[in-house]
Amino acid sequence: MNYFPIFVEIKERPVLISGGGAMAVAKLRLLMKTSASLVVFAVEAEPQITSWAYEGRLVLFHRPVFAADLKGAALLYITDEAADHHQHIAAMARVNGIPVNIVDNLEGSTFITPAIVDRDPVTIAIGTEGAAPVLARAIKRDLEERLPVHLGLLAKAGKIFRPLAKSLLSGRKHREFWIEYYDDTGPGTIEANGADGLPAALYALLARHVSAETAPGHVDLVGAGPGDPDLLTLKARKALDRADVVIHDQLVAPEILELARREAIIIAAGKKGFGTSTPQEKINALMVAHARAGKHVVRLKSGDPAVFGRLDEEIEALEAAAIDWRIIPGITAASAAIAQIGQSFTCRGRNSSIRFLTGHDVLGFAEQDWRTLARAKEVAAIYMGKKSARFLQGRLLMNNADPNTPITLVENASRAQTRIIATTLAELPGAVDGLQGPTIMLLGLAPRQGAQDADRHAPMELAL
Ligand code: SAH
Repeated sequence: MNYFPIFVEIKERPVLISGGGAMAVAKLRLLMKTSASLVVFAVEAEPQITSWAYEGRLVLFHRPVFAADLKGAALLYITDEAADHHQHIAAMARVNGIPVNIVDNLEGSTFITPAIVDRDPVTIAIGTEGAAPVLARAIKRDLEERLPVHLGLLAKAGKIFRPLAKSLLSGRKHREFWIEYYDDTGPGTIEANGADGLPAALYALLARHVSAETAPGHVDLVGAGPGDPDLLTLKARKALDRADVVIHDQLVAPEILELARREAIIIAAGKKGFGTSTPQEKINALMVAHARAGKHVVRLKSGDPAVFGRLDEEIEALEAAAIDWRIIPGITAASAAIAQIGQSFTCRGRNSSIRFLTGHDVLGFAEQDWRTLARAKEVAAIYMGKKSARFLQGRLLMNNADPNTPITLVENASRAQTRIIATTLAELPGAVDGLQGPTIMLLGLAPRQGAQDADRHAPMELAL
């Protein structure tokens, strides 16, 4: 990030605009939404600017901007860079610590104006560091459609109530009050009674939260999906958004942790086959301790928490401590992997059941019902199978599996560095060599011819 977004206070402060052409008009339209004092310097100005000056919405000087004008300015916009003396003025502004923006000149500017979604006092600024203004505008359009127009009214009413709410509620209760207001009570009131109903609704809501008992802590056992944040469920997102504590597996992608509430405590509790790991008892103890302290704990597990995630042990620990819990399912790695190779787990006439297997368990390489797995047309997703590739191959061949049985390896399913390797049972041990990331083996399936990665942006190697 080469540009850090901040909001600059410009209330009643001078914002200077050099130039009086179309560019200046465009900037002024934006700046007139603010409470800044606008001062335009233009030897010649568009009629629109002149009429704004007549209306008293800005001050217009029919001359170039001089160094002395910069005193006390909050910002300087140069919209007529071609004029000779602007290099000098821009340099003066920089020396005096006044942020300067030269329209269409990133190098000469010390700040850039983002695309703005305006729901005053809620303002969303979208920037691309000059890389893709068209993209910024597309994002703005999308947000404009999504965010209700009454958002600003909700926030204005909320702002008036903040001191009172803060004096009566604290910590989690305070947060829950505001969540309920912005999620339900506020929008519902505006719809039913208009903005005038907001103060009464806020008082009633506040009274209810003040008298409510302190909510006990609880644990959400949440599936984080295979890696791509877009594959997170809405429920998982909401849980992350409200979490006080997030205890996550080593496989949970950093982009997903980014979605946790900013104040949440993030605890890495890695469990890696054959590697360093946090003992299960320690993870259980962490969940219990934080929930007992009244916290909303999110136990974030990769994929689906119910697939090779030691979910039962965690639930048992929570039950034993009489702590409230619920499961929020996620997309398991096998689902992401099969989507990437364009295949279906089940297929009429081919297989009417599928199996999820693990390559190793607490006893080492995991034994399976090899006889049935070795039959033609069987389909299975094998988790944690890299290390046991040779063992799996041996067991299946011993049970008369066809050495040409297709197997597809999907490394880092749904992540940017994903790889798909199509191989056969005969070639399996060699094919897993060099795989670094988490990998799913799809037994009995080859990638569909011409299958494309659903996201298209992910680089792929198809080693056939
Ligand atoms: N609960 C998880 C599985 C945890 S076991 C789920 O439902 O996906 C860990 C194993 O899952 C890894 O060894 C690997 O085999 C698989 N895995 C997890 N994320 C993966 C990914 N993005 N791509 C491929 N395999 C993955």
